[in-house]
Amino acid sequence: MKIIDLRSDTVTKPTAAMRAAMAAAEVGDDVYGEDPTVNRLEAMAAGMLEKDAALFVSSGTQSNLLALLTHCGRGDEYIAGQESHTYRFEGGGAAVLGGIQPQPLDFEEDGTLDLGRIAGAIKPDDVHFARTRLICLENTQGGKVLPLEYLRKAAAFAKEKNLRLHLDGARIFNASVKLKRPVTEISRHFDSVSLCLSKGLGAPVGSMLCGGIDFIQEARRWRKVVGGGMRQAGVLAAAGVIALRDHVERLAEDHEKARLLSRGLQEIKGLTVESMSAQTNMVFIRVDSSVIKSLAAHLKDRGVMIVQGRKIRLVVHMDVAMADIAIVVRVFEEFFAVQRSGACL
Ligand SMILES: *Cc1c(COP(=O)(O)O)cnc(C)c1O
Repeated sequence: MKIIDLRSDTVTKPTAAMRAAMAAAEVGDDVYGEDPTVNRLEAMAAGMLEKDAALFVSSGTQSNLLALLTHCGRGDEYIAGQESHTYRFEGGGAAVLGGIQPQPLDFEEDGTLDLGRIAGAIKPDDVHFARTRLICLENTQGGKVLPLEYLRKAAAFAKEKNLRLHLDGARIFNASVKLKRPVTEISRHFDSVSLCLSKGLGAPVGSMLCGGIDFIQEARRWRKVVGGGMRQAGVLAAAGVIALRDHVERLAEDHEKARLLSRGLQEIKGLTVESMSAQTNMVFIRVDSSVIKSLAAHLKDRGVMIVQGRKIRLVVHMDVAMADIAIVVRVFEEFFAVQRSGACL
């Protein structure tokens, strides 16, 4: 049975081209700065985002952690979304390892953080308070693309308040491809940007932290401190080069798949497709809590994998074919048709 895995875009397997590039990669000791493939990937990422430098790291979590450790010191504070990955899904790393306090704020409906609310959360210069240093935005946020106009305002705001601005751009290319604008129109507003190679771009491992020369030099130091200095990492970076070279433009296909999936699911009675959903490669649906378990089991028996919940995030990616979308919609239809006929009996 073919498996259609909609749990995340992290589940993609490296392509044949990636495996070939990994096998053939020229390598050296990256802690000595001598791995040519890592150096090439770092130059490539920095070039694409028009930042001065970039750092190849093991994961998006490590990338955000290094950014926080570099921008903030002990007793400093960063402002981030309540549901942001950095605050919520990274084990509190900045607090654990850096003595850095988060100030979470609710995201707005469109995935932005309201600048007025941020202004209200910035601490006065007073011994009672942590020092507010940094704002972290996320783009895409829950699959939503932040408006460029908002980014411009956020950057001006951060400058005015003397705060640094970091972007958790795990899916920054989904945002730029969706907007049909160069990725630099997003990255230019930020002091640092983290992006994931291992999500929609399809690499098996890795993220890139991008920023200024001094910032990346300091982040490189922190990377070693947290045990992230890898040696012949070129075997991994080689897949990252292919991801950045060949897999950016094709994200549009994933967005089309999500759009078709959303359209198909909207026709089904028994589930609700979230509004503002399906902007990029994710569709969010809601189902009644009484059916969560049986729905997941029905899907699993037919090869469709999801993460259970009342609000279900369906993520499409390279390893989901366009033709798989119709299959997924049919399997959902079947389930709710049976539910309805059961309810009538
Ligand atoms: C996946 C993700 C990360 C972290 O990436 P890992 O490689 O899983 O550690 C960070 N931010 C966002 C928004 C993500 O989706």
